[in-house]
Amino acid sequence: KGIQAGKIWFNGQLVPQEEAKVSVLSHALHYGSSVFEGIRAYKTDRGPAVFRLDEHTERLIHSALILRMPVPYTPDEINEAIKAVIRENAYDECYIRPLVFRGGATLGVNPLPCPVEMMVAAWKWGAYLGEDAVREGAKLVTSSWVRSPGNVMPTKSKAGGNYVNSSLAKADAVSAGFDEAVLLDAQGYVAEGSGENIFFLKGGKLHAIAHSVTLIGITRDTIFHVARDMGFDVVPVMATRDELYTADEVFMTGTAAEVTPIGSIDFRPIGTGKAGEVSLEIRRRYLDIVTGKNEKYDHWLTYVR
Ligand code: PMP
Repeated sequence: KGIQAGKIWFNGQLVPQEEAKVSVLSHALHYGSSVFEGIRAYKTDRGPAVFRLDEHTERLIHSALILRMPVPYTPDEINEAIKAVIRENAYDECYIRPLVFRGGATLGVNPLPCPVEMMVAAWKWGAYLGEDAVREGAKLVTSSWVRSPGNVMPTKSKAGGNYVNSSLAKADAVSAGFDEAVLLDAQGYVAEGSGENIFFLKGGKLHAIAHSVTLIGITRDTIFHVARDMGFDVVPVMATRDELYTADEVFMTGTAAEVTPIGSIDFRPIGTGKAGEVSLEIRRRYLDIVTGKNEKYDHWLTYVR
């Protein structure tokens, strides 16, 4: 049946999903010249609230800047478009996907002559790695695909083309019976999942994989705050895969994945081999924040009604 996104905001107008169509000769379709965001809105006592909207909109604009793609809307206009989609579809909670892309003009590789188009769609999306992964701990496998080095792809841009790398890794992992892939960088250090950042707990210390060729996750930043509230000092580190094998706990973070505990990596159980206690506590606190149950972080919520 496919995604049911109701009304989609497309180049400034709200239209039914069936009418939000693009040309098969769009530059983005041929060469990956698009940038996007993944945002969630949560159900709260005060109606739906978008989590860290300003940060996501800023990252979208930065992603586009990296690709030399002038976004034809201001941050305020983008925020309004996102809120309009939630209101129009009467969602109490949803996943939101803004996309800025090069449309059709010429099919030379040069993107610059092509018009920049934009859409915002939203739909209901549950636990990204599945409910079982959340309860039992997700099963990871190190991918044979390496995260693109920073002089090969702009890894700080959430660019469509970058996700060829992610989707190769994800497809292989899922075909082999795992929930998600771990991508290493060209030097062999752990980079990230196909769509998540990685943390690990070892000797009572919480470690975040340092930014190298990873996307700078907004959830990752949120977890820094959560962990500090719990009395952890979060240390960004470079780590090899075998350092993760012997961690007490590992978890992944992302807007879609939220906080997902990891049960095993490359057939090695992590800790007890089940979702770790600290990971679950961090997950609980994260879910409290996004659903407006922690006043300290209310400024991160944009209420839509
Ligand atoms: N890395 C990659 C490659 C991603 O696609 C994502 C999801 N946007 C993340 C990390 C996590 O980022 P965030 O927490 O901002 O969703």
